[in-house]
Amino acid sequence: MDGVSILNADLHCHSVVSDGTMTPEDLAARAAANGVELWALTDHDEIGGQQRAAAAARAHGMKYLTGTEISVTFAGETVHIIGLGFDPEDPGMKRGLEETRGGREARAREIAAGLAQVGIKDAYEGALKYVGNPELISRTHFARFLVETGACRDTNEVFRKFLTDGKPGYVPHRWASLKHAVQWITDAGGVAVIAHPARYKFTANEEYALFTEFKTHGGRGVEVVTGSHTPAEYVKYAETAREFGLAASRGSDFHSPDESHTDLGKLPFLPGALTPVWELLADRIR
Ligand code: AMP
Ligand code: MN
Ligand code: MN
Ligand code: MN
Repeated sequence: MDGVSILNADLHCHSVVSDGTMTPEDLAARAAANGVELWALTDHDEIGGQQRAAAAARAHGMKYLTGTEISVTFAGETVHIIGLGFDPEDPGMKRGLEETRGGREARAREIAAGLAQVGIKDAYEGALKYVGNPELISRTHFARFLVETGACRDTNEVFRKFLTDGKPGYVPHRWASLKHAVQWITDAGGVAVIAHPARYKFTANEEYALFTEFKTHGGRGVEVVTGSHTPAEYVKYAETAREFGLAASRGSDFHSPDESHTDLGKLPFLPGALTPVWELLADRIR
């Protein structure tokens, strides 16, 4: 079967509740203006924006799925697992996300200490100015501060020069386990999805292990069309989805009008012949 899944679903983006620059309400308005029909706000390790996002989606006539993007450590790399359609009141989910957020404060202090060693002073305080949620200080907030100081031209350059492995502001961190993240989501009635698989620096064997273990733990979806993939990668991961029997997701990973090159609702549609992840979640759509 050829063709595409023509529903304009955008199931990955960030608000001020994590490292986006827009409120849930403003994101909803932007998504609706761009023609999004089914939306999910997926803040990193946080669901504090879910009620506001769902209410704003309703006000704009969009369908809504609850969402989050959980930070996981797998084979020594950070992997992101999207949760969709879970019960936001589920105690196990809430506790798991709280634990995952817990290490961010100490990590941020260490990032600032690393930056101070190369002469960038007061980066912790500087990053905090950009933080909308005190429990969620992220590398993105440091990147915005370093652009403000003129140390770099844009946030991409900050990541390249300061915030990735081997650079002065990089702090290794242990996030949630893959098993736990998938369990929190599925036990809360949701579907777990591997986010932007092309972004990880895995060997073919490590990637195979990720997909295999993810399935073993109950994971059911993979992002195929995302702002982090090239068109060639859409094709590659459509094939991976078929190979592993996973449903496919679509999401811009929009963070900010100034930083994100892919706007809400503007990606190509999912290729046909894949099961769209929302078909697994028909009874969870609000
Ligand atoms: P953290 O969870 O604090 O490690 O921050 C991760 C976030 O940093 C990601 O969700 C992206 O928003 C952002 N990020 C990671 N790598 C880059 C990059 N190369 N350029 C710009 N932003 C990035
Ligand atoms: Mn982010
Ligand atoms: Mn991500
Ligand atoms: Mn994201």
